[in-house]
Amino acid sequence: TDIVVFEKKDEIGGTWRENTYPGVACDVPSHMYTYSFEPNPNWSNFFARGPEIKAYFEHVTDKYDIRQHIHFNEAVSDAVYDAGKWYVKTVQNKDYVFDFVISATGILHHPAYPEIEGLDTFEGSTFHTAEWDHSVNTGSGSRVGIIGTGSTAAQAIPELVNSGAEVTVFQRTPQWVLPLKDFNISDKAKRLFNRFGFIHRFMRRFAIFFMEHMFTKAVTGHPIQKKILEWACKSNLRLSIKNKALRDKLRPNYQVGCKRVIVNTTFYPAIQKDNAHLVTERIDRITPAGVLTTDGVLHKLDVLVLSTGFKPLSFMRPMNMTGKDGLHINDAWAHSVKAYRSMLLPHFPNFFLMLGPNTPIGNFSVIAMSEVQGDYVLKLINKWRENEFDELEPKPEAITRFNDYVKRGLKGTAWVGGCQSWYLDADGDPILWPYTWAKWVEE
Ligand code: NAP
Repeated sequence: TDIVVFEKKDEIGGTWRENTYPGVACDVPSHMYTYSFEPNPNWSNFFARGPEIKAYFEHVTDKYDIRQHIHFNEAVSDAVYDAGKWYVKTVQNKDYVFDFVISATGILHHPAYPEIEGLDTFEGSTFHTAEWDHSVNTGSGSRVGIIGTGSTAAQAIPELVNSGAEVTVFQRTPQWVLPLKDFNISDKAKRLFNRFGFIHRFMRRFAIFFMEHMFTKAVTGHPIQKKILEWACKSNLRLSIKNKALRDKLRPNYQVGCKRVIVNTTFYPAIQKDNAHLVTERIDRITPAGVLTTDGVLHKLDVLVLSTGFKPLSFMRPMNMTGKDGLHINDAWAHSVKAYRSMLLPHFPNFFLMLGPNTPIGNFSVIAMSEVQGDYVLKLINKWRENEFDELEPKPEAITRFNDYVKRGLKGTAWVGGCQSWYLDADGDPILWPYTWAKWVEE
């Protein structure tokens, strides 16, 4: 009944507000990337585009009258726990006191900038994909370099190539690509979904079933699904890339699913166009004129795009968060970032982490995950309201037990299939959930 939502920017949207790079879209089917209580029969595409998803969240915010609770442009700078209360300070130097604090700051939010010598000497324009500078010409007449070939780059590269730029792609590690084609949803189909809710509900259930029983299982050690996914990605490479030398450069030497599988049908056609150049030589350094690779070639550029991913373990940091006995979050997480059931931290009572470590489930909808966690938080807060407890925090042995359980699941997954990715932390422990969606809900 008494809720404050702190939003650091002047509008809502999270990922879909921050990421405006050309081609930004969700590779989880739209009908499943929605709240269960607010289905959307009007999605324009099977895989919705970023602006439409942002508009969906704005619609939900307005319909459920959430805006009245949101303090825009007010990032939390400090949160200190003392004797049953959280004392919160914001960048506007305002103070608040709460019984509970929930962190919903996201996972892939802090851009990771590559440490490459000379990056700051480049005389053209440089920006990260999550901070796209739309004032810069990246179309016809421009020479654009892009570092990285992850899910983001696979969506942005075709747009750059098709807009007529000379595009040089710097690939360090190739990726497996699953060719699930996006398609427009016709007005007739939308009318049908609006009129007959059960068809729409079936679409949603089917998408969830497919992602759970195909995708999630394929990467978490279920042999039949794994074989099908492998076959689909390998055939895609073989059938889509005509030139053998290019095909060899694009072929990963690790298991399918080890890195996040890229769901895309536009990257392979784009990289074969005359104005696209795939560079697999290592980057030596960046010069004022462009990128110098270790073979001595200088790739002259006007724009350098960093599609180099995110720091997945920052969560609510750099917030100054202090729990019981003055324990700072940076000290609590100094060695590794862990949480009980991905939501609760020892020494940080009455604090909940949304989409924390071991929440992400490969290529599944985070909206569904947030709903499960939202219910869990409410259940616990209701117990507090019924005076069942004053303080809630996990015991260290509970967290150890939980982490051992998660770690045991890692052995069967594709993530230990010979690659490096943001899916594993520095100790090689999974940041993701190594079992099925159903098991995650149950746990
Ligand atoms: P990413 O998957 O972490 O990819 C980063 C890329 O940058 C990799 O190719 C990496 O190469 C390369 N890289 C990083 N540092 C480098 C360096 N110093 N020199 C050369 N190359 C370097 O990042 P992302 O593509 O932004 O995707 C991150 C996550 O966002 C995805 O896994 C996904 O969860 C999410 N995402 C989802 C969608 C969607 O459709 N739902 C779309 C975009 C992103 P290495 O592989 O060699 O490290």
